Amino acid sequence: MATQAHDGMYIGGEWRPAAGQDTIPVVNPADEQVIAHVPAGTAADVDAAVRAARAALPGWAATPQAERAALIGAVRDGLAARKDDIAATVTAELGAPPALAEAVHAGLPIVVAGSYAELAATYSFEEKIGNSTVRSEPVGVVGAITPWNYPLHQIVAKVAPALAAGCTVVLKPAEDTPLTAQLFAEVAHEAGLPAGVFNLVTGLGPVAGQALAGHEGVDLVSFTGSTAVGRQIGATAGAAVKRVALELGGKSANVILPGADLARAVGVGVANVMSNSGQTCSAWTRMLVHTDSYDEAVSLAADAVAKYAPGERVGPLVNAKQRERVRGYITKGIEEGARVVAGGPEAPFATGYYVAPTVFADVTPEMTIAQEEIFGPVLSILRYEDEADALRIANGTVYGLAGAVWAADPETAAAFARSMDAGQVDINGGRFNPLAPFGGYKQSGVGRELGTHGLSEYLHTKSLQF
Ligand code: NAD
Repeated sequence: MATQAHDGMYIGGEWRPAAGQDTIPVVNPADEQVIAHVPAGTAADVDAAVRAARAALPGWAATPQAERAALIGAVRDGLAARKDDIAATVTAELGAPPALAEAVHAGLPIVVAGSYAELAATYSFEEKIGNSTVRSEPVGVVGAITPWNYPLHQIVAKVAPALAAGCTVVLKPAEDTPLTAQLFAEVAHEAGLPAGVFNLVTGLGPVAGQALAGHEGVDLVSFTGSTAVGRQIGATAGAAVKRVALELGGKSANVILPGADLARAVGVGVANVMSNSGQTCSAWTRMLVHTDSYDEAVSLAADAVAKYAPGERVGPLVNAKQRERVRGYITKGIEEGARVVAGGPEAPFATGYYVAPTVFADVTPEMTIAQEEIFGPVLSILRYEDEADALRIANGTVYGLAGAVWAADPETAAAFARSMDAGQVDINGGRFNPLAPFGGYKQSGVGRELGTHGLSEYLHTKSLQF
């Protein structure tokens, strides 16, 4: 298992001692054992990393597209070569079951890095508009602040497009999952990225994260995490008139219209919520079912969730705080009158940050468990009377990240999806597309990740008139 932690920061192409002495313990959430310590970065580390990134910027921005593409391709190959290491590290620090760690946590970033190697080579950074040549130029130094729920995916979804655009990067990963970030730094180094193009500072959010978000040498802050912190980062960036991309929470609706394949819609919906122990910002945590099919859907969901045994298909939550938070939401759901049809607030094991996979029926739209992001294996099933009612409920939260619609045919489902306030909607089980733009409406965020839309976040536009 790759839990041999570095005791320094990766800055300017080398592992350097941290400015301070403090460290952060990394805990395996399945058995609560400390598996490593990483340095707790300070403003001084962040400053050194931003200087290194700024020094490397002119050279990297001027590097021909084909060379940048080849180096991103080398990062992709390095991730592929260390796939097993990555999966084992994500299992150790996040608690993801091995099959999920391999397929998604290690597999998806390889695909995304590969997509940016290709885009870096083929993207047109110049276009003609009348007598103007319009150039897309790198924004500059990027401060990337990432969460723990998809530790490597979130890193690659920011770093790969930033590098493809010609930007240099300072990464501050989540304190719960720094080992995956260190592994990524090793891969970036071995791939031969020039010194300073990618830099890593581990540390606490309110210390290292805040220093990075507020640093005057950072031109764009890309953040994924909670709405509360995102709001703060957006305000700091706004005050400095700095670009910002925010990927925040969600409370996505899985709308099952009359005529849909109910068993499939419920089965896929339950799987979607239970995957990664519900720690997915785009999870369909609200299932909306027509009143005529409601009881059948609840019974199908209860049967489906029985297959998600904690400790097997469902891992622990990332830490004790998240477990308590999620159990608090389950208790609140009961207090507000929702009916538990599976799971409940009791912890399934004495050790490890596990929560019982939980399904609530008789959830009404104003309940806390229908409004707030729980970030655990908890599904709320709501009843609607007609399509207008379904749409009102689906759009009735502050969030707008994702969703799903199921109907007898894709046209009917798509017609409903067009009215949803959400950045991504899957039609009748449409597959995840790593090239499609990902991001939120309303308080789910600002900006898009992945594919060409993700790349353009890191570009400035300049027009030259002839
Ligand atoms: P968080 O927002 O505190 O952490 C995300 C990242 O931001 C981490 O790297 C953290 O160190 C950093 N950070 C924290 N405070 C900061 C600050 N003041 N300035 C700069 N950076 C800072 O998220 P969390 O506390 O780990 O999780 C809490 C809730 O956030 C979850 O229950 C969930 O609802 C939500 N969340 C959403 C996502 C997502 O993918 N959108 C990911 C993780 C968590």
